[in-house]
Amino acid sequence: MRLLLVEDDSMIGEAIRAGLKRLGLAVDWVRDTGAAGQALATEPFELLLLDLGLPGGDGLGLLKELRGRGSSLPVLLITARDAVADRVAGLDAGADDYLVKPFDLDELAARIRALLRRKSGRTEPHLGHLGVVLDPATHRVTQDGDEVALSPREFALLELLLERPGAILSRGQLEERLYGWGEEVESNAVEVHIHGLRRKLGARFILTVRGVGYRLGPEP
Ligand code: CA
Repeated sequence: MRLLLVEDDSMIGEAIRAGLKRLGLAVDWVRDTGAAGQALATEPFELLLLDLGLPGGDGLGLLKELRGRGSSLPVLLITARDAVADRVAGLDAGADDYLVKPFDLDELAARIRALLRRKSGRTEPHLGHLGVVLDPATHRVTQDGDEVALSPREFALLELLLERPGAILSRGQLEERLYGWGEEVESNAVEVHIHGLRRKLGARFILTVRGVGYRLGPEP
């Protein structure tokens, strides 16, 4: 799951990035609205974490522009305690939620999960397919009730597939959703994680669609 973080404060930005990375989220971090606009135009993000007080144009302008273009990207504002008017303006401009600094990373993660759930139209917090159940909150995966230990990347990859049952995802699509900027990606990284998932969940749990990508099994 790939998120864009727009935050000019180095300490807060680093803390958020590190905290979310531990949860298996790929976070791309930019410090101003110009870089944010560029990133949003070129990369696939599932969610935007937006600070409002930014140098060189505020976050509210970016948000309005985004909604003006018809984007439905979930936006979570992260704002200073004394900026009630900003938060109201942000929500009215199309933000989905906000958090007041300083905030707890667990709460940020829970709000992110809630927004992603809403985005995908799910009411259930769990994702499931053929006896496999993934819990985004606890990061646990079970198959027919038995716990399955997955690496963080395997977990993230499985989550991407479970969120789009029936869809075929190409290697490139999976790669760009699994990895943030500047992360070293081995050319066969996705295949390695797919192989790991098949070994743990069964060879037919994820199917290869020749020349296209991967989808959840079994064959319809
Ligand atoms: Ca700021």
